[in-house]
Amino acid sequence: MKFVYDFHEGNKDLKDLLGGKGANLAEMTNLGLPVPPGFTITTEACKEFLREGTHVEGLDSQIDAHLATLERDMGRRLGDPADPLLVSVRSGAKFSMPGMMETVLNVGLNDESVDGLSRQAGGNDRFAWDSYRRLIQMFGKTVCEVPGHEFEDALHEAKVAKGVKDDVQLDADDLRALVTAYKKVFAKHTGHDFPQDPREQLDLAIAAVFRSWNADRAVLYRRQERIPAELGTAVNVVAMVFGNLGSDSGTGVAFTRDPANGEQGVYGDYLSNAQGEDVVAGIRNTLSLSDLERLDKKSYDELMQIMATLEGHYRDLCDIEFTIERGKLWMLQTRVGKRTAAAAFTIASQLVDEGVIDLDEALIRVTGAQLGQLMFPRFDLASDPSSLTRGVGASPGAAFGEVVFTAARAVEVAATGKSVILVRRETNPDDLPGMIAAQGILTSRGGKTSHAAVVARGMGKTCVCGADEMEVGSSSFTIGSHTVNEGDVISIDGTTGRVYLGEVPVRPSEVVQYFEGDLDPAQANDPLVFAVHRIISHADSKRRLYVRTNADTGADAARARRFGAQGIGLCRTEHMFLGDRRELVERLILARTETDRDAALAALQPLQRADFLDIFREMNGLPVTIRLIDPPLHEFLPSLEELAVKVAVAHEQGQRVEQDELMLAAVRRMHEQNPMLGLRGVRLGLVIPGLFAMQVRAIAEAAVALAAEGGKPRPEIMVPLVGAVQELETVRAEAEKIIASTVADSGVEILIGTMIEVPRAALTAGQIAEAAEFFSFGTNDLTQMAWGFSRDDVEGAFFWRYLELGIFGISPFESIDADGVGRLVRIAAEEGRAARPGLKLGVCGEHGGDPDSVHFFHEVGLDYVSCSPFRVPIARLEAGRAAV
Ligand code: PEP
Ligand code: MG
Repeated sequence: MKFVYDFHEGNKDLKDLLGGKGANLAEMTNLGLPVPPGFTITTEACKEFLREGTHVEGLDSQIDAHLATLERDMGRRLGDPADPLLVSVRSGAKFSMPGMMETVLNVGLNDESVDGLSRQAGGNDRFAWDSYRRLIQMFGKTVCEVPGHEFEDALHEAKVAKGVKDDVQLDADDLRALVTAYKKVFAKHTGHDFPQDPREQLDLAIAAVFRSWNADRAVLYRRQERIPAELGTAVNVVAMVFGNLGSDSGTGVAFTRDPANGEQGVYGDYLSNAQGEDVVAGIRNTLSLSDLERLDKKSYDELMQIMATLEGHYRDLCDIEFTIERGKLWMLQTRVGKRTAAAAFTIASQLVDEGVIDLDEALIRVTGAQLGQLMFPRFDLASDPSSLTRGVGASPGAAFGEVVFTAARAVEVAATGKSVILVRRETNPDDLPGMIAAQGILTSRGGKTSHAAVVARGMGKTCVCGADEMEVGSSSFTIGSHTVNEGDVISIDGTTGRVYLGEVPVRPSEVVQYFEGDLDPAQANDPLVFAVHRIISHADSKRRLYVRTNADTGADAARARRFGAQGIGLCRTEHMFLGDRRELVERLILARTETDRDAALAALQPLQRADFLDIFREMNGLPVTIRLIDPPLHEFLPSLEELAVKVAVAHEQGQRVEQDELMLAAVRRMHEQNPMLGLRGVRLGLVIPGLFAMQVRAIAEAAVALAAEGGKPRPEIMVPLVGAVQELETVRAEAEKIIASTVADSGVEILIGTMIEVPRAALTAGQIAEAAEFFSFGTNDLTQMAWGFSRDDVEGAFFWRYLELGIFGISPFESIDADGVGRLVRIAAEEGRAARPGLKLGVCGEHGGDPDSVHFFHEVGLDYVSCSPFRVPIARLEAGRAAV
């Protein structure tokens, strides 16, 4: 098998085999750009190495051959004492895993070639010995697992001994002595001397890069980013070029457009007399590219030309790394660059204008997640707020409030009407009440899958985590010498991860203003709004899926319609039973006689009718799916504990509280250990006479009323929690009678269908379809029941651990579990349609607004997805992306 490719043998489409870096180095080489010569060892070799544990049959001889070519090209031999070739050994997987794997620079240096290097550098001993000490340090740490701090300690001691502060103040003799010290450290930990044979150094470095694929941090990163573990990394062996050879040398990074906002032009940072690592590490303040123009016009002009070539070739924003060695420009890396959500939209639209891509491709290049980010309110940074620190933006949004340090305090302060930010080292399930009460959550530890991050995202709450500069105490936190006390106000930005002191003003996003109809994209003079308008309009023209919304009020329905909803996929009628109507529901539950019950229902009916009429009006002409009441009735009663205490206290004081006693008896009667699996949904409708009938009548009457106004109501009655066709048939028979007698010749047509949210319903969908004109997948309950996870309990309790362990890439309540729950959807869709061709299929669980899930529902062949109003644009975009 061919394990090694010269750069001129590869191309950009071979990322699987050569990794991203290798494939792009090959592409640049083929474009004739100045790439230092080198070769790439494939991901196949890595996989073989990791399988075998050590040796890859045939790899050595291939490396020999390619090294010989490299030496010929460079006119130097690896580690030649007189005139050494040095190489870098760099990891490079298919997907970028920044800083997660290993790199070794300056391979080929030893006690003899260090002098040769000095001669090459024009007698620059300091440079040569500095390069050598860097090799021993990097090699010791990454290849031989010598504790890094031992080298740092030795370096520190050398500076102390000399009485200087900076590395650059050490001269050649100091560095030579440091090399001796480093070698001692190396030998102490490894039991052998630092290898002097350049080829042995190379082989060991390659093996170390292979192994680093399975380093703890790389494994963790892959889990978080959902990068498959079996891909392996390629290894790039590249002739070294040096940016630290004096003021005519340097190194930099650059972008072909601004990755922050997409503005045209080139952007970048340059450090003269430095190596690549120094720029990324932010050791010194960098210069801008225009400074480079001043310093070295020839290299600058060449760089500009190369960047134009790259953008034209990749047809997208590229980022690059380059080095200038004594006035000669070298390209060390390029790739299609990462960018912010705003830049993604703007650049895609610009490239359409430039005739580089078409609208289909522009649509592919943006995501619903990016659109979602653009819809969050943002801080108005014009006020120039004082930045405290930065962590990981774990759950987007802009929140401010008084700092509190315990969940209990968060609840207490929030109860006074103040907004609070809960600050913790990390959160655990006990913090949940505080997280609910808080406006935002800030932690000093943990990443995007920590407990705080997962729970906050689940709640849609702003969260910044892993702000590791913070020292969190019990009533204050410190950042360096700055202390923030309980009660001080801070602001946190869950998108950028930034933390500010004080209250930063918030403004609504322009993109939401556009969806609301408050910003005309043609007049807005805002490239972002124009880009969003253009791309989402294209998505609408392409998508096959309809997008509806989950809405329970006229106001929500109206907003969703402005956001592009094409109907209501789920109106949860139980939400209409709250507030001051609770009392009517209580009356229904406590009714002892048929007369009492009928009276309670009769009181509810006009209220329900008015609710439905409101919604039908807002959605005039569009389908509205109304679900009959779903949750267990005890949810509308007072809590058992509180009531029991109240009655006991009254009795203790010798009082009779008849009403409370009656209620307590009812609450006890209705108490369930597992209410989610108890008397709810269709079961409730079959047990409480008249309840569903009242709702059906209210729906039919509201529809007739709108038709009488000249409107076009399109009601669809949906029965929840059906598991057997007989349940649906029973409800249907009664509903049909009521509908027939109510709509008469008004022209109103009402469909009757069911939710598919119990696994048995999915598995008997063929039978159920006989009695249903539509199915709507309730993927919340379907996920809960397929996995046996309580949807109300598990996210904070253990999902964070499952995410950490990689059992999930993402919560199955957030994104559809295609293999398991998705299979139930697929079976039900196929068998339902087989039994009733033309059966309308939709989804109304949370997954209806999740980007990946939308693609799945498109592929399964559903007719529509339904989601909360704010996610309607996201679903529109993703449904369009799924279709191109
Ligand atoms: C569902 O279960 O997916 C659903 C939409 O119903 P609810 O969330 O109201 O149970
Ligand atoms: Mg449900």
